[in-house]
Amino acid sequence: MFISYSNIITWLQLRAMATFTLKTIILDFILGTVCFFGDQLLMMPTVHESDWLRVLVDETTHGLVGVFAWAAVIDFEICWSHLFEIILSLFFSCAIDVDHVLAAGTFNLKAALSLPHRPILHCTTLILLISVVLFAVSRASNSKHAKHLPLMFLVTTLSHHLRDGSRRGLWMCPFGSLSMQQYSMYIALIMILPLVAKFVVVSVDLANGFGGTIREKMEKRLDPLESV
Ligand SMILES: [Zn+2]
Repeated sequence: MFISYSNIITWLQLRAMATFTLKTIILDFILGTVCFFGDQLLMMPTVHESDWLRVLVDETTHGLVGVFAWAAVIDFEICWSHLFEIILSLFFSCAIDVDHVLAAGTFNLKAALSLPHRPILHCTTLILLISVVLFAVSRASNSKHAKHLPLMFLVTTLSHHLRDGSRRGLWMCPFGSLSMQQYSMYIALIMILPLVAKFVVVSVDLANGFGGTIREKMEKRLDPLESV
């Protein structure tokens, strides 16, 4: 089959226009702002010197980062299915820190915060592996309800790892660590992640024929461009 240059451009335009909606851009901007102000709050002496306050601010920021990242992917609307996905993304982005308590073997906050090594759920290689397994299971089950689950898990947990990684680098066990030396790089990566995920969702929906509405809307918007 012959694929022309204009076909590729139209293919990209269709997906890019469906990805970069105003709502997604606003949610993505809020995501970056939440990261920045959450980190600023953590550096305040009152917060920094209290273990409880530090955990509260850090977990709230992790939770909000997961929520806004996933809300940007699904173009959040007020409906039951989106609300359910938002609650689940909040759970994934915070629950990952439970490994601190498991590794410490106690609910003592000081012990959980001063582990000699990073706990297992903070291994980015493991998160990627779990996501691949979830993708395979979701594909095999063909369940409509589990359609977004693997990507939601990947986006929310990877956002958590990127945020933690801004301080300690990404732990790619057993291959070592990837350092993120620049603060702006971490903010940029966290903001790019949901956009890439949304591009994937839009592309899969279009390929599977679920994107009828997207296609109609976008082709209408593309028409004037093509007639120029
Ligand atoms: Zn963490």
